[in-house]
Amino acid sequence: MIREIVIARKYGFCMGVKRAIKIAEKTASETDTPVTILNEIVHNESVVEAFRKKGIGQSFSVHDVESGTLIISAHGVEPGIKQAAINQGLTVVDATCPLVRNIYKIIQGIIPEGYYLIHFSDRDHDETKGVVGHAPDRITVVSSISELDKYPSWAKRKLGLSVQTTSQIEDFKAFKEAARAKWPHIKTFDTICAATNQLQSAVHEMAPLVDMILVVGSKTSANSKRLARISQSLCGRGKLIGSDEDIREEWFAFDSDSISRVGVTAGASTPDFLVEAVIKRLNKLSGGTARLIRLAGDRDKKEGRIIDS
Ligand code: SF4
Repeated sequence: MIREIVIARKYGFCMGVKRAIKIAEKTASETDTPVTILNEIVHNESVVEAFRKKGIGQSFSVHDVESGTLIISAHGVEPGIKQAAINQGLTVVDATCPLVRNIYKIIQGIIPEGYYLIHFSDRDHDETKGVVGHAPDRITVVSSISELDKYPSWAKRKLGLSVQTTSQIEDFKAFKEAARAKWPHIKTFDTICAATNQLQSAVHEMAPLVDMILVVGSKTSANSKRLARISQSLCGRGKLIGSDEDIREEWFAFDSDSISRVGVTAGASTPDFLVEAVIKRLNKLSGGTARLIRLAGDRDKKEGRIIDS
């Protein structure tokens, strides 16, 4: 039976997502011409749907946008696509997160110095495509340690290593060690963003205190999926749910004694109202008696502590 609902110290919207939403809303309110978002403004269906209802269009190809303003999402885009939009006569508003742009700056700094870049990342993610598009001939995407075997020693090549902003911290640490063992001369740029760091640390803090962790986030959100994976590995029960409707009563009825504390967190693209609905539903399942606990924590020690209820 659910007795306590534990809320992570840090969950939900990150700086880059809040900024992109604000930019899109401001743009739509200030223009009379059609506004279209390229790809998903952030990877969350509720946010995308809310924009659709406000009359803001969405397109997965710049060539399908005939006129008006094109908004580049928080994940960024390759320069060629931005240029194509300008060539088509569109007004481009760039909502790329400054921390994604930071990777572009690194690329622009090291490529003229003769570097090649290894980018540790999910190959098909929008952010990855944008990063690679900044120097397609000089960037190699590697998604796992096992893929390193495919590449030569490149002893004479200047090499850099960067990482997707939302990668799992432990995965990148292990990858970095393996990459350094193969290429001792590689220069590392840790481009995992602060929000990812905080969200993942908050799960580490919460995991020893709870029996199950529910991660509210979309299946298309890389950072939400990672939080669920970390939750599963740390506490044995970690589930990714899109909304309160995905919660199954039997999760708690099956072995009622062992799940009394349920942890709740959310990915960087998850709006607060979805988290609030999950808390409400959990409370309902507890018969309205669950104690609500908010966590504070020590990020470095990865320990959580209760601050209020
Ligand atoms: S997860 Fe990080 S890089 Fe991505 S939008 Fe948020 S702050 Fe920016």
